[in-house]
Amino acid sequence: MTRQRNINGISVAPGLTMGPVHVVRAAPDVIPSWSIPEDQVLTEVRRVHDAVEGVCEELERRRQVVAEQANESDANILAVHAMIVRDPSAITEIEKRIREDRLNAEACVQALIERLESSLSSLDGESIRGYAADASDPWRAVLEELMQTEKRDFVAGDERVILAASQLTPQVATMLDRDRVLAVICETGGRFSHGAVLARSFGFPCVVGLPNLLGRLEQGMRVIVRGDQGTVQLLPTEDDIDAFLVERSRLQARAEALSTQAELPAETPNGHVLEVMANIESIHDFGTFNVEHTDGVGLLRTEFLYMERAQFPSEEEQYRLYRRVFKNMGGRPVTLRTLDIGGDKQLPYFNMPKEANPALGWRGIRVTLRWKDLLRVQLRAALRASAHGDLRLMFPMITTLDEILEIKETIKDLRVQLLEQGYEIAEDVSIGIMIEVPAAVFSLKQMIEEVDFVSVGTNDLVQYLLAADRDNPFVGDLYDPHQPAVIEALSQVAKVAKAAGKSCSVCGEMAGDHMNALLLMGMGYDALSVAPNFISEVKYAVRRTTTQAAEEIFREVALERSGAGVRQALQEAAARLMEVTTAELIQERPPLGSSSGDQKRQEKEGGAL
Ligand code: PEP
Ligand code: MG
Repeated sequence: MTRQRNINGISVAPGLTMGPVHVVRAAPDVIPSWSIPEDQVLTEVRRVHDAVEGVCEELERRRQVVAEQANESDANILAVHAMIVRDPSAITEIEKRIREDRLNAEACVQALIERLESSLSSLDGESIRGYAADASDPWRAVLEELMQTEKRDFVAGDERVILAASQLTPQVATMLDRDRVLAVICETGGRFSHGAVLARSFGFPCVVGLPNLLGRLEQGMRVIVRGDQGTVQLLPTEDDIDAFLVERSRLQARAEALSTQAELPAETPNGHVLEVMANIESIHDFGTFNVEHTDGVGLLRTEFLYMERAQFPSEEEQYRLYRRVFKNMGGRPVTLRTLDIGGDKQLPYFNMPKEANPALGWRGIRVTLRWKDLLRVQLRAALRASAHGDLRLMFPMITTLDEILEIKETIKDLRVQLLEQGYEIAEDVSIGIMIEVPAAVFSLKQMIEEVDFVSVGTNDLVQYLLAADRDNPFVGDLYDPHQPAVIEALSQVAKVAKAAGKSCSVCGEMAGDHMNALLLMGMGYDALSVAPNFISEVKYAVRRTTTQAAEEIFREVALERSGAGVRQALQEAAARLMEVTTAELIQERPPLGSSSGDQKRQEKEGGAL
């Protein structure tokens, strides 16, 4: 049977790479259990010991990472997890079961997990039930290690690989070891799902919506991933590899040329400056891009800082983290968005209720206004950090004016409280809202006087305007930021904000595309915040386009009656204004030293572009 060699999916993050795949399969619902002959007993016992050691090595690696971030409480929890799985009485219990019941290692570890959970959960009290989960979680990791499944595989191994999974959830994405992942390819997911947002910000190519992907792959199989085109090529021939190398060096030359110009401001030929900021998800983002290329952080998605931990960070821990972000940004503004959990963004240590429609449910500000202490602790930490940098506070999923008034009241109280306690805080902290819910678009006239700035979260606004789940590939075609309804909403927001003299930006993913960026500038947006690896391209586009030309793009787009029409108009504008061949770009670039050494090194490592 011939295998289909090219699979088409949805492009999530650009870039071109080649490498071996590492297939991650979800754990089965039922843990396999089978009888073993006597001469296999020792093999099964050894498997348990090896799995325990594998888990402990991984826990130690993670412990060192969090300890480096001065997060002592999480580091201690990870150390305790290692002690739990090395507990001699638990290991003896598993060994005894293997010997006496003659069952495989997985079944015996599962029996231990069940015993731990049932003995503790039969006792009264929330915290005791919490301990039951704490005691069994590390053993679940041992089970995963034994079965070679699940998310632990997302971080294991030394080789640089292309990760293939059924879905990239935000929880799993935050566990990825960026040094070892060349690209991510998935069977399901949408272009603007939170996992996709993270993949884009990590800078590796990502393609999702690849039908029956896992069924076509074998562990270690070589594939080529074309992030821009949303394609995966299996088992490339020698000719395919030659074509890949040529394409990659062309892209590399272009990326290098763009980056040499990225420190220049995004100033149009007629002297208008657009602020181009970075979207940041993790403190680790800072070694991966040059802060000199940005005008600040336009969106700090703080929930991912919470997700990387084993429990809620304290006020002190958050304060230190935010202070580090300010320090890294060297005085540039930092827009801190308060915790935006709910929907697909869950914290492992915070049990949210199961909801029939999570996207329409308990999300973002709705959670933190109800669980006010979460908001208070985060705001106290942020306000204290404001003494060390230019802080802008931004609130997610705003629907009503009442929410804004309640937030402002809370900030006012906290300010008084902090000053009374002797803390130094900045006098002026701008307060802004995200426009993600259609109601906020239509009530902006009533809201705008209460805020200093607005920032449109198109990832959510598009899903709510078009009633098309951003994570659901079945409505992937309908989820379209170029639909005229979206264009109209975006232009209304800019108009209302400008009329009130307030600054307006877009921080949703669509702003990272350079033609969308020009369209948004033409609508009147004065700042864009994009994943760091799109900054140079966006700035380059802005520097070649006058504001009049950008306004003309908007006028043309506003006449279109369909998403396809809008895209066509943008493509025509790109052909007219922007299409720059790599050869032209390289000519514009200031002379540099040779980079062929780097190129060869990347080729050997299977580096991505
Ligand atoms: C958005 O909705 O566009 C946004 C920036 O927020 P998030 O992607 O984190 O939901
Ligand atoms: Mg959002």
